[in-house]
Formats: sequence, structure tokens, C-alpha cells
Amino acid sequence: MIVISKKESCTGCTACYSVCPKHAITMVADSEGFKYPFVDATLCIDCGVCDNTCPIKRRDKREESKVTPVAYAAHYSSNERVWYESASGGAFTAITDYIYKRRGIVYGAAFNDAMEVVHDSADNPSDAVRFRDSKYVQSDLRDTFLRVKNDLTKSKLVLFSGTPCQVAGLKGFLKKDFENLLTVDLICHSVPSPSVFQDYINYIQKKYGKRIVRICFKDKTLGWDKFQTPRIYFDDGTDIFNVDDSKLWALLFYSYLVVRPSCHACRFSNLVREGDITIGDFWGVEKLCPEYNVPNGASLMLLNSDKGKKSFDDISSNLRFSLANAKEALPNTLLYTTTPNPQRQKFWEEYNRSNFISVVNKYLEIGPYYERKRLIRKLFNVPFRLVKYIIK
Ligand SMILES: Cc1cc2nc3c(=O)[nH]c(=O)nc-3n(C[C@H](O)[C@H](O)[C@H](O)COP(=O)(O)OP(=O)(O)OC[C@H]3O[C@@H](n4cnc5c(N)ncnc54)[C@H](O)[C@@H]3O)c2cc1C
Ligand code: SF4
Ligand code: SF4
Ligand code: SF4
Repeated sequence: MIVISKKESCTGCTACYSVCPKHAITMVADSEGFKYPFVDATLCIDCGVCDNTCPIKRRDKREESKVTPVAYAAHYSSNERVWYESASGGAFTAITDYIYKRRGIVYGAAFNDAMEVVHDSADNPSDAVRFRDSKYVQSDLRDTFLRVKNDLTKSKLVLFSGTPCQVAGLKGFLKKDFENLLTVDLICHSVPSPSVFQDYINYIQKKYGKRIVRICFKDKTLGWDKFQTPRIYFDDGTDIFNVDDSKLWALLFYSYLVVRPSCHACRFSNLVREGDITIGDFWGVEKLCPEYNVPNGASLMLLNSDKGKKSFDDISSNLRFSLANAKEALPNTLLYTTTPNPQRQKFWEEYNRSNFISVVNKYLEIGPYYERKRLIRKLFNVPFRLVKYIIK
């Protein structure tokens, strides 16, 4: 039966939970808010199916040298609003158009009413709008794999989109290749903790005295290539944008203090992709494809399998695209794993016995105390480490 000896070796993909014939496994959140399988030994018959399904244990030795990716720069060209609302160029919506033309069903990550990020399905384009935009939180798959299998066995065309470890989990669970399944993986360097995200939501809601109804993590008002530009929408119709509170989550994410341990040992940051198609941001597109004008962003699309390549002919009818030099286009986030913050352990020790904003301010060195510290250092040219004695 599955035993998690090191947190780095479990992505929380739910494959073992979904496959267990005795329903002996539940996914339980740890003190950092990430879910791991927990086996009820009284129900387990020691059949070993969970171990054989786990993509981390099954994953064959990488053979990157044999992979020649086909890469495109692309953006959604049939509707400017779709392009603007998407995290990068809107390649994802072009793929969903292809699925809906064939009366298929799409699985992706969306916010629920409690502002949790969960995987869900949508059988029409208006419902699939929920999946648009990157949500910088690990999404909860719950029973998604069982639902996907159910749809596949009814011969529906299914698109499953998610992080590479989620796609690997689904494929491990399904065990066989379904002709009617198309998979899309994201270029993803890490996913942050769902419970810290809930603490952030609660902090903002309390401070502003309003309920958050939506967050757009990649608002393009200042341009698609600007960092830290989430917009937070409240239930009274107002929103906050480009202020410290709305930028805070992006700062915390990129500090690598609160990302899943498996992301720091990721088996999927390489060219052997899990999805038939990979989508990500095409940074530097203006240099590699100068003919390409992208005020609202560009998607990098990698076609990884015959299925991905064949479907691209139809998918591309709603795209403007250019073939790119794959070797030059691949970002570091696809090729290398993310290094953990050296303060990670200390951060969590304090986080679990203190309140959200004081610990976050301390480790990100933001807030009034650090602003005063920086001011004193500037005025008197005092070394940063000594300033604390002056303003204590
Ligand atoms: C946590 C995270 C980290 C990322 N890091 C990088 C990176 O380092 N480099 C890079 O090039 N691209 C990264 N991306 C991908 C990029 O931001 C876009 O999601 C991607 O380019 C698709 O954009 P789009 O314009 O085609 O369509 P959109 O419509 O914006 O794409 C939305 C797609 O993302 C999926 N999605 C959104 N949030 C999640 C989530 N939490 N978990 C699983 N799936 C989700 C939806 O299901 C849908 O398939 C990341 C995405 C996420 C969610
Ligand atoms: S060994 Fe078999 S019964 Fe036990 S948890 Fe794994 S899949 Fe379930
Ligand atoms: S199958 Fe997925 S959830 Fe289960 S142990 Fe392996 S990585 Fe973790
Ligand atoms: S970085 Fe790796 S382990 Fe983390 S979410 Fe992405 S694919 Fe999964």
C-alpha cells in the first residue's frame, strides 16, 4: 500500500485514491494545507494497485534526447475579449472550441463559491469561461479522475487540462490510451498552498469588509508582461488593483515559501511532456517571432503527440500562429525545477503558531516596520541588520 516517506515524492495527484478498489484511501491536508493519501489499514487488502498506479513510482527514466518538440507562438484571433481575458494568448480557448465543435466535454480548474480552486467539467463554451486565467493555487481534483473515466467510457470526447503531474496521474489511473481523450498540460514551475490562499482571502475580506467574488491573477491593464497584477473583485461591484494588498499573493507565490514540496523535486520539468499539447507563456516572443504582434500576450504551444499534432489543424482555425524555434522558445520553468526558499522551514514553524499577515510581512520584508527600516537605512546609511536595534 502507498506510504509517503518523503513529501517531495507525492504531488497529490489523486490517482491512488481514485483507483483503490476498497475505497481505503482518503486525501487529507497536512499542516501546510497540501493533500496526501491516507490509507485506512482496516479496509486495505494490500493488493498493491495504488503503488503500481502512482505516476511518481511508475515514471520511466527520462529520455529527453529522443524528444523533438514542435513549438508555436499563438494567440486567439477570432475574439479580442477572449485573448484579453486569457492568462497568455488564449490557446486554451482555441482547444476548447475544437472540443465543443465535436460535442465534447472539458475539464479544468475553476474557483467555486468559497473561492477554492477545484477541478470541474463544462459541457458548453459559456460554462468553460470559469477555466480561463491561471489560478496560482494547487487545484483540488477530488473525484475528477472517476468522472473523466465515466465520460470516456460513454464515448464522449474529453479534454482534460491541468498541471503535468495531474495529467500524469490521470493517465496512470486510466491505464490505457483512450482515443477520445485529449490532454493539455501547463508549463508550471510550482503550485502554492490552498490553505494559505484561504488565509489570504480571509485577510482581504476582513480588511475590506466585503466578500471576494473573483480574482483575475493576470489582469492585463498594465500590459500582459507585467508582474504582480492580480485584480480582486468584491460582491459590491468594486475591485482593488495595483495596490499592496492585491499584489501580495503574487509576491508570496514567487517567494517559494508556500509551494508544494514535490514542486522542488519535480519529475515533470523537462521535455518529456505528459499532455498531447503543452501550453504556457511565450516570453520573448517579440525577439523569436518578430512578425508577431502581441499586445495582449502570446501562448507557447508544444505539440507532443500525434494526437496533438493532428488536432492542431482544427484548433488553429481560431488562432493566429507562427512556427517557433523550439530550443530557443523553451523557458527555464519548463526545463528546471524551482529551488526552495532557504527560509521555508522557519516560515512554516512560525506560520503555524502565528497569524497570516504578521508572518508574511516578516518573511517578505514588507509592511510599515520594514518600510521604516528601509527609510532609516537610507537616511543614516546604517547596515540593514543593525536597523532593528534602532527602531525597536
Ligand atoms: C500555478 C501555475 C503556474 C504557471 N507557471 C507558468 C510558468 O512558469 N511559465 C509558463 O510559461 N506558464 C506558466 N503557467 C501557465 C500560463 O500561466 C497559462 O495558464 C497558460 O499559458 C495557458 O494560458 P492561455 O492563455 O492559453 O489560456 P487560459 O484560458 O488562461 O488557460 C487556463 C488553463 O489553465 C488551467 N488552470 C488554471 N489554473 C490552474 C491550476 N491552479 N491548476 C491546474 N490548471 C489550472 C485551466 O484549467 C485552463 O486549462 C502557469 C499556470 C499555473 C496555473
Ligand atoms: S493496497 Fe490496494 S486496498 Fe490497499 S490502499 Fe492500495 S489499492 Fe487500496
Ligand atoms: S498516486 Fe499521486 S497522490 Fe498517490 S502517492 Fe502517488 S503522487 Fe501521491
Ligand atoms: S511543478 Fe511539478 S510537481 Fe509542481 S505542480 Fe507543476 S508538475 Fe506538479
